[in-house]
Amino acid sequence: MVASSVLGFPRIGANREVKKAVEAYWAGKISAEDLTKAAADVKKTSWQSIKERGVDFVPSGEFSLYDHVLDHSAAFNVIPKRYVGHGLSPIDVYFAMGRGRQADGVDVPASEMKKWFDSNYHFVVPEVSDDTEFKLNFNKAVEEYQEAKAAGVTTRPVVLGPVSFLVLSKAAKGAQAGFQPISLLHKLLPVYKTLLADLKAAGAEWVQIDEPVLVLDSAAALEKEFATAYETLEPVSPKILLATYFSRLDSNVEFVAKLPIAGLHIDLDRAPGQLEDVLNAIKPTNIILSLGVVSGRNIWKTDFAAAIKLGQQAIEALGADRVIIATSSSLLHTPVTLASENKLTAEQKDWFSFALEKCAEVATIAAALSGSQDAAVAAALEANKVSITKRREFESTSDDTVRKRVAAITPDQLERKSPFAVRKDIQAKHLNLPKFPTTTIGSFPQTKEIRQARAKLGKGELTPEQYDEFIKKEIESVVRFQEKIGLDLLVHGEPERNDMVQYFGEQLSGFVFTQNAWVQSYGSRYVRPPIIVSDVSRPGPMTVRWSSYAQSVTKKPMKGMLTGPVTILNWSFPRADVSRELQSKQLALALRDEVIDLEKAGISAIQVDEPAIREGLPLRRSDWDAYLKWAVDSFKLSTAGVTDQLQTHSHFCYSDFDDIFPSIQRLDADVISIEASKADMKLLTTFKQYGYSNQIGPGVYDIHSPRVPGDQEIKDRLKAMLDILPDSLLFVNPDCGLKTRGWKETEASLANLVAAAQWARQTY
Ligand code: GLN
Ligand code: ZN
Repeated sequence: MVASSVLGFPRIGANREVKKAVEAYWAGKISAEDLTKAAADVKKTSWQSIKERGVDFVPSGEFSLYDHVLDHSAAFNVIPKRYVGHGLSPIDVYFAMGRGRQADGVDVPASEMKKWFDSNYHFVVPEVSDDTEFKLNFNKAVEEYQEAKAAGVTTRPVVLGPVSFLVLSKAAKGAQAGFQPISLLHKLLPVYKTLLADLKAAGAEWVQIDEPVLVLDSAAALEKEFATAYETLEPVSPKILLATYFSRLDSNVEFVAKLPIAGLHIDLDRAPGQLEDVLNAIKPTNIILSLGVVSGRNIWKTDFAAAIKLGQQAIEALGADRVIIATSSSLLHTPVTLASENKLTAEQKDWFSFALEKCAEVATIAAALSGSQDAAVAAALEANKVSITKRREFESTSDDTVRKRVAAITPDQLERKSPFAVRKDIQAKHLNLPKFPTTTIGSFPQTKEIRQARAKLGKGELTPEQYDEFIKKEIESVVRFQEKIGLDLLVHGEPERNDMVQYFGEQLSGFVFTQNAWVQSYGSRYVRPPIIVSDVSRPGPMTVRWSSYAQSVTKKPMKGMLTGPVTILNWSFPRADVSRELQSKQLALALRDEVIDLEKAGISAIQVDEPAIREGLPLRRSDWDAYLKWAVDSFKLSTAGVTDQLQTHSHFCYSDFDDIFPSIQRLDADVISIEASKADMKLLTTFKQYGYSNQIGPGVYDIHSPRVPGDQEIKDRLKAMLDILPDSLLFVNPDCGLKTRGWKETEASLANLVAAAQWARQTY
């Protein structure tokens, strides 16, 4: 019999119950018990619904109130000292680590967040050093296993593996020079042993241990660590299913096949090509293979026929009892259910499959492979065939104008007229900005009033004219605010945008939208990615009227604000039938037209945000060059159509650029603003090493936390930056947009930022 399995499930709840409860708890509106209860209800519903869909291996323990990596840090006592000793309850320490805390005399910044592999999910980076005293503060795996059992569902608990946990960690401040987190493995393993032994004692037959770092090139050097870890854990643990996802094992499969594990999970959505190698490697062993054929990263219906073929290939090699049909990764990156969508057309709805529907998919594919004669299975197979055929027919129609335009892109379309050294002077004259120009990344607080106005427009309670008037007022007040506080290069504040990707998607052809397809980005922040369903084009200008309105109410220069092609692509659910490159170039052409129109309308600086360019990088280095070529070309294609006097900006969050620096240089943006407030100054050293000569605005404070940075704190940061970078290159700005912040902290923080820039002008 072929079994079915799901690696993890969204945490938000079908009606965003968890997000709402977490935020209510933060606001002091509900108690910790209420929060636990709200979470318990959602978990219970999820476990039961997954089971009802016929899934054999139901996950537990991967649920989280904030982030599953943070859960592990809290459980293993990986709690930086700065969060200890304030008299906070464990749950408040946990949230303080995730989001910082500034109340009742406690003032601690949030921990660093990083992108979870190549996804738009962010995890809280654990901080370890030789002083770290690992101990098991609580055993969430056991607790949730028992919680699920009480709800009538026997689960396969999920635990983040010890090697991945340490590889994803960073050295705590004050750690010895050259300290490597992985060196703590021998200290961490006893705690994992306790965790797993307790799980076994609680009755768990299997445990899913996630070791996603196995798909990275760097894992090749960790063979010994993996062997030590799993030889230590296996004797006390429930049967181990080692889960890998998001890319391929490549040669790492050689040592993985020798580990004392009972099962191995591989991602065949992202890396279908690895099946044969993996089958060859594990054939002589007893390892069961879990085939990730149902995408945990996208929302398209699975092509059952294709999945069944892969399943049969595995069965031929291993026998049916050694094959599991699974989601490719956790379903965390997909929305809860298609059932909550009632605005998609029947035709569109038939193309998709969200988390709950995917549960039914793994069950059906497994049943088909097990030779089920069940009429319901036969009907599901037939229905899938019809849906897939219809979608393929739709895909065969394309927009010829767009396709031809992409095919006709020439190299000169990617280059500005003059090199930066020439542009710089022209722009300086044109914009007339002071030294250390201050600016922001684009958005200002998305207040309740703004969200209400948008909701009212949606319900027809505001006419489009009334809504436009409202937005204009917002823009004007944001402009006045910036003038008052003394910022130099202004923005319009983005009040008209529900989201930096959705807003553009809604104005482009080729996208569809959902009502409830929320996907976690970090903590309680969720996004609703648009879905690219066909060729993309721009029916008309998208932002010109707002930017020109904003410019019309001020004498200071206004920066236009667009989301870049790679980011729109990465933060949407892309098509699966054409390459990402083609989709990115189509988006780039649409944005190019917008950039040109903005310049024509009198805007003299334009920021094209590409926060997702790093996250879209393939996990395997051998795939990097191809990606970087089209990604950078797409950015250049969208920005290079302007005259030399137009100052192009770009912005990146979580800018881990060390290893892709030449590509950042090749973007040739006049100014880039980057996240540098939480990470150390290492990144700036990289800029220096490469002789980066365009302008840079390293974020001077962290906007992801409500905490207000003091002005001395910002000055110190500027000072540290100026130790590394030439003063003529420096812009002064926060590290990201302010949309998630309140006005109070925004005003206080920006006032301190402007004061610090003034200080720098006098000092340097
Ligand atoms: N311009 C966007 C904003 O300010 C950029 C957001 C981002 O980089 N994530 O919100
Ligand atoms: Zn950002």
